[in-house]
Amino acid sequence: MNDTFKRNINYLRISITDRCNLRCVYCMPEDGVQLAGHDVVLNFEEIVKIVQSAVMVGIRKIRLTGGEPLVRKGIMHLIKTIDEIPEIDDIALTTNGILLPEMAADLKEAGLKRINISLDTLSPEKFAKVTRGGELSKVWMGIEKALDAGFDPVKINTVMIRGFNNDELWEFVELSRKSPLHIRFIELMPIGTSELWAADSYMSSDELKQIISTKCELVPEKEVTGSGPAKYYRIPGALGTIGFISPISNHFCSQCNRLRLTSEGQLRPCLHSPHEIDLRTPLREGASQLELANIIRQAINSKPEKHDMAATGWEGNRRVMNQIGG
Ligand code: SAM
Ligand code: SF4
Repeated sequence: MNDTFKRNINYLRISITDRCNLRCVYCMPEDGVQLAGHDVVLNFEEIVKIVQSAVMVGIRKIRLTGGEPLVRKGIMHLIKTIDEIPEIDDIALTTNGILLPEMAADLKEAGLKRINISLDTLSPEKFAKVTRGGELSKVWMGIEKALDAGFDPVKINTVMIRGFNNDELWEFVELSRKSPLHIRFIELMPIGTSELWAADSYMSSDELKQIISTKCELVPEKEVTGSGPAKYYRIPGALGTIGFISPISNHFCSQCNRLRLTSEGQLRPCLHSPHEIDLRTPLREGASQLELANIIRQAINSKPEKHDMAATGWEGNRRVMNQIGG
């Protein structure tokens, strides 16, 4: 359905857990993470009921995220069940890739259509540093297994951080040239644990594009399936593409087509606004599918026209990405 700014809202991103097997420095604190109690986290039956209600107001695409969605037990069954809802025509996943080596083939079999894997560095030491202990070799194996399982496109999410991984820009560019991977550079956002240092570490998409253009021709690419807010380019002859996601420098609010559901059952009309609408309580009090659909409709109608994160940071909003679902 269209929201009040005539945007067609057809995409629901669901955080199925706030737990994670990594602790990326810009996303989660090292210790003392406040995790939701099991009693407030939606179970899979509840998530499916919400998806069934969401299709009544025009949701057609689902993305499972988190936290790390692959740490939630039973995810294969959830994917299968959502995939069987006739109105849903796309189901995708965002993952850190650590558990992909053993799960990629089963995810494909369960009906998952697309996969995005987060990878900020190609150096094992730096990977361990940015994720506070992660093993890069597992993610590499996960990427290979995802390609072997037939996922296409496989997209790589890379947050470019000045002074941390910008020296690897050419290695990522090379990766897009030699392998069928779609490398998407995401601007660092001043949210969660990055709030205090993001201003100095931020690199805009324009800056990256300009640097790449000094040595390579970037030919605009029509679209990579499910491209959402990314703008894609291909270096002539490359197997993959390079994409830029610019939530700060060029916010894509006018094309926003999404709604978010937190692992605790709160609907978030905008990632960058603390406004949430409680779905869990009515759901647990026995609301009908139609009643839930009406609440989702209200959430769609309360989507703001745009965010102003570049100017305001994330004032007053203390939820971090693992809780909302990135
Ligand atoms: N754990 C999964 C993963 O890492 O792909 C899914 C959840 S994670 C929150 C989703 C995406 O959000 C990741 O690509 C991560 O890099 C991105 N992210 C988290 N915090 C961010 C920040 N402060 N700025 C930009 N991107 C961020
Ligand atoms: Fe976990 Fe993803 Fe956040 Fe990293 S970005 S801490 S992998 S949820």
